[in-house]
Amino acid sequence: MNCIFCKIAKKEIKSYLIYEDDISIAFLDINPLSRGHILFVPKKHYKTLSEIPDGELAELMKSLKRVLNIVEEKLSKNYNIINNCGKIAGQEIEHVHIHIVPRYGGEEIFLWKTHKLTEEEAEDILKRLK
Ligand code: 5GP
Ligand code: ZN
Repeated sequence: MNCIFCKIAKKEIKSYLIYEDDISIAFLDINPLSRGHILFVPKKHYKTLSEIPDGELAELMKSLKRVLNIVEEKLSKNYNIINNCGKIAGQEIEHVHIHIVPRYGGEEIFLWKTHKLTEEEAEDILKRLK
């Protein structure tokens, strides 16, 4: 498969690896949003988190937690965890990955443009989700 993250997982492509175990790897993003922006990646190819079988996902969360512990200890206790799922949501690499973006203060990122939730919108969405 021509997947860049599969190739990184198999060490066919160089990465700045910060963590590895049997099921996952974590390495530096080559276009960091902040210092120490890390990608946490399952070694097995899945496109989205929801595709991963429950047992595997549970194990992956344990691995992710180990990476978070490293980030908290060595970089910052403040960080954003992001998963872009689907093209419209910004997923460029179709191998599921979780961004860990350490925050130190003053970063001009994640300026979300929100709107006030109306009664009508809330009721409509609740109807769809139930
Ligand atoms: P997405 O937009 O799919 O959520 O995020 C993909 C991320 O992978 C981007 O932040 C991009 O900078 C990073 N990326 C793309 N190609 C490579 C690569 O070859 N090596 C590394 N380390 N990161 C990559
Ligand atoms: Zn892959």
